[in-house]
Amino acid sequence: MGTPTEKDELQLFKHMCQELPDPTLVINERGIIKEVSKELTNILEAEPDKLVGNPFEAFLHLFSKESQEKMRKAFQKHIKGEKFPPYTVKMRTEAGTTRFFELNSNRLKVEEELKGIVVTARDITERKKIREQLREYKDRLESAMISGELAWWEMNCKTGAVNFNHGKATMLGYPPNKFSHYTDFTELIHPKDYERTMQAMRDHLNGKKEKYNVTYRIRHRSGEYRWYNDVGGITKWDEEGEPLKVTGIVVNITARKKIQEKMNSLHAWAQKLNKTEEMEGIIEYTLNAIEKTLGFTYAAFFLKEGDFLQIKGNRGFESIPEKFQTLSLKGKGITVKSANMKKAMLVKDVREHPEYIPPSSKIRSELAVPIMIDDELIGVLDIESTQKNAFDTTDQKVLETLASHVAVAINGLREKKKRISLQRLDELRSQFIVMASHEFLTPLTTLKARLEMLQNGYYGKLTKEQEEKIKSLQKTSDHLVQMVEHFRQISKSRSKQLQLEKTKCKLTNLIEIALERYSNILKEEGIMIVKHFDSPLSVRCDKDKMTQVFWNLIENAIDYTKDRILIKGGKGGGTVWISITDNGTGIPEKDQEKIFEPFYRVEKDRYKGDREFYGGGLGLTVCKQIIEQHKGTLQVDSTTGKGSTFTITLPKHNKNNGL
Ligand code: ADP
Repeated sequence: MGTPTEKDELQLFKHMCQELPDPTLVINERGIIKEVSKELTNILEAEPDKLVGNPFEAFLHLFSKESQEKMRKAFQKHIKGEKFPPYTVKMRTEAGTTRFFELNSNRLKVEEELKGIVVTARDITERKKIREQLREYKDRLESAMISGELAWWEMNCKTGAVNFNHGKATMLGYPPNKFSHYTDFTELIHPKDYERTMQAMRDHLNGKKEKYNVTYRIRHRSGEYRWYNDVGGITKWDEEGEPLKVTGIVVNITARKKIQEKMNSLHAWAQKLNKTEEMEGIIEYTLNAIEKTLGFTYAAFFLKEGDFLQIKGNRGFESIPEKFQTLSLKGKGITVKSANMKKAMLVKDVREHPEYIPPSSKIRSELAVPIMIDDELIGVLDIESTQKNAFDTTDQKVLETLASHVAVAINGLREKKKRISLQRLDELRSQFIVMASHEFLTPLTTLKARLEMLQNGYYGKLTKEQEEKIKSLQKTSDHLVQMVEHFRQISKSRSKQLQLEKTKCKLTNLIEIALERYSNILKEEGIMIVKHFDSPLSVRCDKDKMTQVFWNLIENAIDYTKDRILIKGGKGGGTVWISITDNGTGIPEKDQEKIFEPFYRVEKDRYKGDREFYGGGLGLTVCKQIIEQHKGTLQVDSTTGKGSTFTITLPKHNKNNGL
């Protein structure tokens, strides 16, 4: 067996290239490229002629500069006998994309003599991409877990061993190696939550619950308990179908729990706020609520007054310098900015905030929240601390909720004030009318007396014409008196001055008295009166007032009837009723409710003769008021062209009900 010829060597190199599964290149011991596999020229997008027969440099030149540098040294060492570790090299393709290759190299020895080097290049671009993506996902997940205070875990159901991401331990203030078995964690669970938590896991493992989902408190290294929400499920079963692995995620929900607790205690304060009748009370309760729910060094309650914010109450300040008691809305400062922007301002470090004016140089952080009713700025709630970063978004949410409760309370107070002043105005008006009516009545009574004296011939005998004129004047003055009386009545009952003097009486008697008053007119106009009563209709009522009601209703009936008035009465269901029906013009349906309103009158052309002048539109208003004061009702039922029925119901006289 002689030494192999060059031909033999070539044969060997070719063979290598064909046999090796990876794209391959062979160089001889002098560094000349002797053979290249087709796969290699394909993946490197290279011409075989440019490589074969050329020095190894031609191959190196296909790769990026840094890769060339790295490999040149490695190959030199490799030829001298050192191992060639797999290298990842980079190449830019003609299309401009970057591809990655893993290069491996082996020395080819035949009978201890170095014949050359076999280089394989494996395209790892896709693998690298996926790896990078995975790393990115992992990094992202890790950072999400750290910032979101959540961690994953898995537990071997057979051994109880746990595997978890480190956050699960560090969140509790411990090094990860403290935990290896699930009991290392569960022994830290709050005794009150322990059994419930274990039961939740058992229920899931037994198939009673689809998921393991439980909220518990767990002890932090500091000794303080934190609230966690733990959710998981079986992810692997053994061949017998028994659970093998449970995987889950645990989230620190302490902040959420705290905000919930704060919101709950705020709710109690809000209820007190809403019941407060004075501004001072609202301010006091708000500051108390701030004190109970938020940590702070100083707190202030500002109200907007014109172009200024005025401090109305505070906590923590010994004394506030005058210039900070009133803040101009045109000025600077975080409180003012929050007012002007109508939104919360959370400043973690006031020293980094150019717009801050410190009432005390000790202040480091501040939270200001506007109090708004719809779009109107009412004031600002402001809290400050000597600590940096003293307030977070949870505090902001709490203070914002409080500010909206304050707004509701202030709005309620405003509405109430408005109502009270309207009520007061109404009372004043009624009192005025009562007084003015009284002033009218005195001269009217004198006028009436004088007219009567004139009519009786006290000042000399009258001609027929004079007598007629005086009669007409008397009618007019009677109606004037009636109108003034109506005014007085309505105003008195509005201002609740109207007192009823109730006695036991028979309504049938009162009707007779009322009819008596109109006997002449009834005769003159030929109106027939038909009466039909079941009984005397006993009630307890104010006789005079009730007679006035009948007067009004009968007068109206006379005014509008054709020729007949029917008066009926009866008892039933604990009430006594009386109805007065005429067969006249009737009242259109649209007017039927309105006729009880003051001064409302149906169109003029319906009135008979000269009476239209007298109607003041107050009669029915007075009637309704009187009846309602007797706890009764007055209703109308009417058909135009046929007539109207006015019905009164009153509670029946009964020793027990006092009516
Ligand atoms: P007035 O002093 O004008 O009669 P009222 O308050 O007694 O005032 O009545 C209000 C209005 O109701 C009257 O102007 C009239 O248009 C209508 N009205 C009252 N009673 C009758 C009736 N019996 N028939 C038709 N219309 C009536």
